Amino acid sequence: MIEFKEVEKYYGSFHALKDINLTVQKGEVVVVIGPSGSGKSTMLRCINGLEDITEGQLLINDVDLHGKGTNMNQVRKNLGMVFQHFNLYPHKTVLENITLAPIKVLKKSKEDATKLAETLLEKVGMLDKKDSYPSQLSGGQQQRIAIARGLAMQPEVMLFDEPTSALDPEMIGEVLEVMKKLAREGMTMVVVTHEMGFAREVADRVIFMADGQILEDANAIEFYEQP
Ligand code: ADP
Ligand code: ADP
Repeated sequence: MIEFKEVEKYYGSFHALKDINLTVQKGEVVVVIGPSGSGKSTMLRCINGLEDITEGQLLINDVDLHGKGTNMNQVRKNLGMVFQHFNLYPHKTVLENITLAPIKVLKKSKEDATKLAETLLEKVGMLDKKDSYPSQLSGGQQQRIAIARGLAMQPEVMLFDEPTSALDPEMIGEVLEVMKKLAREGMTMVVVTHEMGFAREVADRVIFMADGQILEDANAIEFYEQP
């Protein structure tokens, strides 16, 4: 589903990703950990096309992401992304935040988009807040909306960049619960997170990055049980 082949990424002369080789299979949950500045966000941003790679190949469903003639919009439709800071549209209601992309990008009717959004809000436990504005909600609630918004494009892969790092501790659990539910439903997920409990419980694999390199790629049990 996602395949990095000898990927190199430079920001100017700064070598941010070094010889990245990584395959994520359909239905796999991969957790990425590592110190700040090790290239975790860069790797996610390359997957969703927010950043270009410098060398190597990056394939999503066998489509070369950075190849000539690749339609990035087509590829991006398959990827939902959740950021640390929610990034919801402040002047739109919860419901509008979710229906926007299905209407604009997928060309769904308002009615169909609303139905879809309501189903997703139900899934993340936020249906009763559909007419609220983001500023009226807690961080945990906003992040659950952001997850619903990511799902609204009905993507095959969900990418999470430190989804709980900006949350007060008491709100982390409710967001992780939603992510666990997605994982159990078979969603393919790449998650940058410091939440070890989540990694242990749901990750199929844990990838440890440092200094732009993958130093370890192991299943979660092996990863946490070694000395
Ligand atoms: P992490 O997510 O592991 O904290 P990042 O991928 O955000 O790491 O960053 C990896 C390194 O690349 C850092 O040293 C960061 O300063 C640098 N970097 C990230 N984005 C850019 C950019 N747009 N321009 C220049 N350097 C960047
Ligand atoms: P996060 O850890 O939440 O990903 P960062 O501070 O790493 O946030 O990056 C936020 C934004 O700043 C990104 O778009 C990244 O490309 C950019 N950025 C990060 N480091 C640098 C840098 N050294 N030079 C220029 N831009 C950077």
